[in-house]
Amino acid sequence: MLTQDNHPIAIAAPLRRITRQARAVWGARVVTMGGGAPVRVQSMTNTDTVDAIATAIQVKELAQAGSELVRITVNTPEAAQAVPYIREQLDRMGVDVPLVGDFHYNGHKLLTEYPDCAQALSKYRINPGNVGKGDKRDRQFGQMIEAAMRWNKCIRIGVNWGSLDQELLASLMDANSQRANPWDARQVMYEALIASAIGSAHRAEDMGMDGSQIILSCKVSGVQDLIAVYRELARRCDYSLHLGLTEAGMGTKGTVASAAALSVLLQEGIGDTIRVSLTPQPGEARTQEVVVASEILQALGLRMFVPSVTACPGCGRTTSTTFQELAKQIDDFLRAQMPIWREQYPGVEGLRVAVMGCIVNGPGESKHADIGISLPGTGEAPAAPVYIDGEKALTLRGDHIAQEFHQIVQDYIEKRFGQTTEQH
Ligand code: SF4
Repeated sequence: MLTQDNHPIAIAAPLRRITRQARAVWGARVVTMGGGAPVRVQSMTNTDTVDAIATAIQVKELAQAGSELVRITVNTPEAAQAVPYIREQLDRMGVDVPLVGDFHYNGHKLLTEYPDCAQALSKYRINPGNVGKGDKRDRQFGQMIEAAMRWNKCIRIGVNWGSLDQELLASLMDANSQRANPWDARQVMYEALIASAIGSAHRAEDMGMDGSQIILSCKVSGVQDLIAVYRELARRCDYSLHLGLTEAGMGTKGTVASAAALSVLLQEGIGDTIRVSLTPQPGEARTQEVVVASEILQALGLRMFVPSVTACPGCGRTTSTTFQELAKQIDDFLRAQMPIWREQYPGVEGLRVAVMGCIVNGPGESKHADIGISLPGTGEAPAAPVYIDGEKALTLRGDHIAQEFHQIVQDYIEKRFGQTTEQH
């Protein structure tokens, strides 16, 4: 008898919700979102867009880190004028990542008055909460949709609870007060976010925009709020969804909150493209948000970006830091090589490496990996067995275990994934 009910335990896997497929295009580069495409990673620069060189350099860094779309602020005429120049710099550097323009308040003017900017971008972010008030709202929103249709660009209708359409919220609050059993104010806010996004998308479609070129987002900064809003948004429409916890915060807090919220939704098949909105800590690279977004997708088994290194946490059996250092060195080495290996060794991102601290779980975990090493714990013989494809291959000894293991990993990659390249 295998289990009490004698049936196998279900294998967990993320669901896939099929949405309409949007395309962000630059030259020959096409980034699809939704419609069964892989969940895309995107990010946003924090440079002054007017500083075209600094912005182009940061876009390049984000793209090299794995960002498949990069958003830049377009807030002034000077920024709009800089956009084509940024695009040109990127093209010169061989960086074909599509650029997304982030517009607020004056996007209708900038997209109309600076056609080179409108053309150089591959996607426009429109916030319906600040396209204008009263009778200007529909007109100015319409001007942005017309620009998207004229230049054949996809758009994100990006609602954010920090800049929610106040007229819509007020009208929903009024309607709620008339209910026999009024909703909680938070539920009214959820409704306003979703109504603003879907209502704006329908207005764009009414103007003639192809619905598959519309992506929606409804960002909030609370984990449970985000889960509630996106579940309902996904239930009510089949537009592609951009998913992210807005203003997630810094460091561990921002990383954990984003991972918690996004993981729940991605597991349910909700989310076609993600952004992790981390506040960089002083001295921290902007690319950290791309690393975290990629790690979330990889941890869920949705995408593979870099070989994974399994390392034990260490305990009283490891009094030296050798295995921690080795795990970090291997991880850093694998990440640093990826921009080249992605082309040279197709499939290398699926490699699993284990670096373990002692005999308790070391050999077992190493056997589960493609290549693993079990370092000697306190009191164990100074020997480190290495396992390759589940079999003990050799034992390392002496003062150069780290360097030798490094070389073994490199040789393994060359042999296994280099051969794949030749066969193709
Ligand atoms: S593998 Fe060994 S060193 Fe690592 S946590 Fe387990 S018992 Fe501790």
